[in-house]
Amino acid sequence: MEKQLEIRCPACSASSPSPANFCPNCGRSLRRAILSTSAQKQIVIYLISFFLAPLGLWFAWKYIKQNDRKSKTIGIAAIALTVISVAITIWTMAALYNSIRQWFNLLTGFNL
Ligand SMILES: [Zn+2]
Repeated sequence: MEKQLEIRCPACSASSPSPANFCPNCGRSLRRAILSTSAQKQIVIYLISFFLAPLGLWFAWKYIKQNDRKSKTIGIAAIALTVISVAITIWTMAALYNSIRQWFNLLTGFNL
């Protein structure tokens, strides 16, 4: 049995067949807001992905859920940047930890 795809109107919750762009009951647009893929928007997303890693994942998820290829690519790039950012953070922390430990050992004569 084939399942009929239906969209439920967010405003009046009347259901309409999926190709409809507007609610037949109240006229509200049923198309999902299309996310911007402009260069400016991409830069913002990449910066957020890099400097505020968890927020970047949220953006990435929103973009990957879009249907067009460009948005998906932006989402994947945002995830890649997030991963790189986390890797750099861990690497920096490890290096910092090591130098603090060495410095501490030198000062105290302990061997942590
Ligand atoms: Zn409606």
